[in-house]
Amino acid sequence: MISVLQLARPEILTLRPYEHAAWEPAFERMHANEMPWRASQEDSAAGLNRYPEPQPQELIEHLAELYGTAPDNVLAGRGSDEGIDLLVRAFCRAGEDSIMICPPTFGMYKVSARIQGAGVVEVPLLKERGYALDVERVLAAWNDKVKLVFVCSPNNPTGNLLDRAAIETLCSKLTDKAIVVVDEAYIEFAGVESIVPALARFENLVVLRTLSKAYALAGARCGALLAHKDIVALLSGVITPYALPTHTIESVLLCTDASHRAEAQARIQTILREREVLLNALAAVPAVRRVWRSDSNFLLLQCVDVKGVLDAAMSGGLIIRDLRSNPLLADCVRVSVGTPEQNARLLRTLERLPGAVSGDAA
Ligand SMILES: *Cc1c(COP(=O)(O)O)cnc(C)c1O
Repeated sequence: MISVLQLARPEILTLRPYEHAAWEPAFERMHANEMPWRASQEDSAAGLNRYPEPQPQELIEHLAELYGTAPDNVLAGRGSDEGIDLLVRAFCRAGEDSIMICPPTFGMYKVSARIQGAGVVEVPLLKERGYALDVERVLAAWNDKVKLVFVCSPNNPTGNLLDRAAIETLCSKLTDKAIVVVDEAYIEFAGVESIVPALARFENLVVLRTLSKAYALAGARCGALLAHKDIVALLSGVITPYALPTHTIESVLLCTDASHRAEAQARIQTILREREVLLNALAAVPAVRRVWRSDSNFLLLQCVDVKGVLDAAMSGGLIIRDLRSNPLLADCVRVSVGTPEQNARLLRTLERLPGAVSGDAA
């Protein structure tokens, strides 16, 4: 057992996981209290009358190949959201332990911690340095109750990649102290390699990948947690039995085959071109004070008047993300890059809005 596993809750380390009905496709199933007939007209290949294979081998091998790691290092779940939840539940004792996050960032880390009764230590990203990771302050803020450090790269909602060397410094300085969870939900849009190969060097590194964004499968609910095999084995005893629905397994295998990967690559290229077009055009819109550069498929905008911008978008039939509830982004919105037609429509609605009155504080 790797030493970083000692960070897990003792009850989880000694847990005897639920025993699934054995997966023996060579036999006819009379061991899982399923109906022996299928519902009429349901269109799955496997039959929805049957429980799916837990951590389906073919899917796991496929995800391992897609993400450049070994099957032992892959846990598949219902989106990377499930990976976040499993980590918090397995590593944080309620009322005792904490996670660390670097705001402004993805909201689910904090929500999962709150649900578990875990604390949240916040070390903000450095806005003046383009929302860079503040490695020194993360390390200074660590204490032995902090079990998980979440970093999101590219970060949602600021859009920027975090420095790879800085993340690796965290992994190395926090060896045996905390797990560094790198959420790479948008890495396919960043034009850089994933941190996945570094799993071989850091036992305390966990990488989250998702099919929801670049692979256009948000509705399938499938993500992968990539980690040392001992961490994967531990969490596979915590994940709900038969977590992945049959339809999800079948759609993911279909929509990540060679031809769909080529399709995804082509669409990513279109999004990247549109992102730059939209960024440059928005930068010239009077109602937009600032647009941040992005390594993802969305843009963060600082607005003269957020409500005016949201209303204008809605008048064009478009909804963009209101970030006003985040005190660090009180005058900001987030825009997902859409089709060329949608992007042009958004621009038309925003171009009509007034800019700042001269003398207004930026
Ligand atoms: C969208 C998103 C996710 C969630 O992905 P699912 O796989 O759909 O659960 C995770 N992390 C970040 C940063 C995201 O923006």
